[in-house]
Amino acid sequence: MKGPSSLFLIFLLAFAVQAQNTKNDPEGPEYYQVIKNYKALAAQYDNTKLLEFGPTDSGKPLSLFLVQNEKIEGEDLATLSKDKLVIFINNGIHPGESCGIEASLKWLERLLQAPIDQEIVIAVIPVYNIGGLLQRRPHTRANQNGPALQGFRGNARNLDLNRDFIKADARNTLEFYRIFQSLQPHIFIDTHTSNGADYAYTMTLISTLADKLAPPMANLLKEKMEPALYASMKMKNWEMTPYVNVFGRTPDNGFSAFLESPRYASGYTALFNTIGFISEAHMFKPYADRVAATEAFLESVYEFSSAESAEIRKAKKAADQWQVEAESFPIDWELDSTVIEKLNFQGFKSAQLNSHLGPYKRLKYFRDSAKNTVLNYYPHYATAVDAQVPRFYVIPYAQREVIERLQAHSIKMIPLKKDTLMECDFWEIQEYEFGSQPYEGHFRVENIKAKREKAIRKFYQGDLLVPGQQVQAYFLASVLHPLGRDSYLSWGFMHSILGRKEYFSPYVFEETAEQLLANDGELKAEFEAWQKANPAQAKSDYASLNWIYQRSDYFEEEYLRYPIGFIN
Ligand SMILES: [Zn+2]
Repeated sequence: MKGPSSLFLIFLLAFAVQAQNTKNDPEGPEYYQVIKNYKALAAQYDNTKLLEFGPTDSGKPLSLFLVQNEKIEGEDLATLSKDKLVIFINNGIHPGESCGIEASLKWLERLLQAPIDQEIVIAVIPVYNIGGLLQRRPHTRANQNGPALQGFRGNARNLDLNRDFIKADARNTLEFYRIFQSLQPHIFIDTHTSNGADYAYTMTLISTLADKLAPPMANLLKEKMEPALYASMKMKNWEMTPYVNVFGRTPDNGFSAFLESPRYASGYTALFNTIGFISEAHMFKPYADRVAATEAFLESVYEFSSAESAEIRKAKKAADQWQVEAESFPIDWELDSTVIEKLNFQGFKSAQLNSHLGPYKRLKYFRDSAKNTVLNYYPHYATAVDAQVPRFYVIPYAQREVIERLQAHSIKMIPLKKDTLMECDFWEIQEYEFGSQPYEGHFRVENIKAKREKAIRKFYQGDLLVPGQQVQAYFLASVLHPLGRDSYLSWGFMHSILGRKEYFSPYVFEETAEQLLANDGELKAEFEAWQKANPAQAKSDYASLNWIYQRSDYFEEEYLRYPIGFIN
């Protein structure tokens, strides 16, 4: 049946499910009910508080639930988190992956029945992608094993919020900045449900790449925290494996760690020395198990934090200091396949079978046939581009998309009091490509090659001097260096430098060009060499004159010149 009647049935189903809801909806969480449950918790315990930020793209506020041991006074996050260890949990960035939305509530309801560790503040976003959860319906996750109604991945603007942490197209992201920068959390958890291969584990885990954290936090993560979390989850009968980072193939030949560049939640939080975890519950496991495993993981993180709170806080402090003094940061990476860890892996046997649909092979896993193997795991990404930290960046006032995003991070910026000539390093874009189609609302600039040059340039009153060495130094290097994997240039905030503004008319420029060659013997020789090497082009008036024009003072220096200067 098509048309209005089938639509009516869907409405009926949705309302029937909602009507049955009391607390934790076995059919998947519903936005208003989730917020109602948090309000009830906030009313019940005075050591909690439910705050509203926003609005988000959906027009609805972004809720933040806070927990500590004593009564929560005031609403200032920075005051609340001062001298405490902060665990920050984000749920429902992909609302079809709703395990964490339910797990957080269940865990908090349990946790609040006893005293909380005095040194810890827990901050939870109940639902981050509100617009996506409001669209809950069957079928948004083709491969996933329930719940019956699932939110949609795109937000109210159809953005994947887990690609938005640098470009910040969504209001949700700007609110996230505000919360995150005020809390300065030690630990961040983003809850998800996996796609990809099939295997025995209910819970898989992405941890921040240690390569991206300052040494004190990297060591803590690698040597203590990760081993403790894996052991703790095993004790709770939810043995984990690193996120199985394969698509369209089995994990049998091994797999690498997930490279979370700054556009992703934990890639962003790593820029501020926050240890990030992405819990990825396995999509084929029963929904109740996925929720329970996610809840166990939240609890394990809390237990470790409580046991090691002094050490975690000390490491974060040392890391923040390290960051202010660091001379360079990695801003692009490539997999280092020479660093191999052996991973005990509980997989399933699989085969390539003939499809019943067409003349092709299809991958089939046999869930009844365990295949326990030792796989190669590649945890290390080598630095492909290392950004030197300048004394100052100089950002023209006109770059307002850039400036607004730095302002949202409370970055220290000093406006020039008057027009000033400055010697700076500049980047000249030499090569680039556009993505063939829009990606998350942008035609990205890819494969950028650029060379660095010294030049004296005029900056104007109101342009901004940004000290390179500050607490947000890694963030600045990641977004302001043109070769960063997620630089503002790559996200298309400076497309206008990629186009020329002025041209010439050949019939007028002919005499000028003649004069230019007459005055510059070297240029003349180069021109004649070019003519010899390009006989076809040499017959064109425009091509010939353009060759000379581009090497003359008439040619605009703004073209392909990255607008931000670097003072060393
Ligand atoms: Zn996800």
